[in-house]
Amino acid sequence: MRLIETQHLEAALSDFAKARDWERFHAPKNLAMALSVEVAELVEIFQWKSESESRSIMQGSEATHVEQELADITLYLVRLASVLGVDLNAAVEAKLALNAIKYPPPQE
Ligand SMILES: [Mg+2]
Repeated sequence: MRLIETQHLEAALSDFAKARDWERFHAPKNLAMALSVEVAELVEIFQWKSESESRSIMQGSEATHVEQELADITLYLVRLASVLGVDLNAAVEAKLALNAIKYPPPQE
């Protein structure tokens, strides 16, 4: 079983860019910067909030904004991986395996 499946989203993003002649803007450098900006937009929502306020963010008026920024991040992440030819599923599975070695569960 693949942990994440992005083929349909990759195709949709490619079609979206092609239809607007935006492929020329989608250099990895530009996509990485756009991804960083979207992450900053998400962080800005939480800026100055308490830990408790951050935990209940999805019960408040900013829930939709959080969802939109998470979507923006996902779109740029998947597009960047696609342009670079990275299989995100394989990369995620490999990194999870490395993390499991690096951070073993505590012994009882
Ligand atoms: Mg955004």
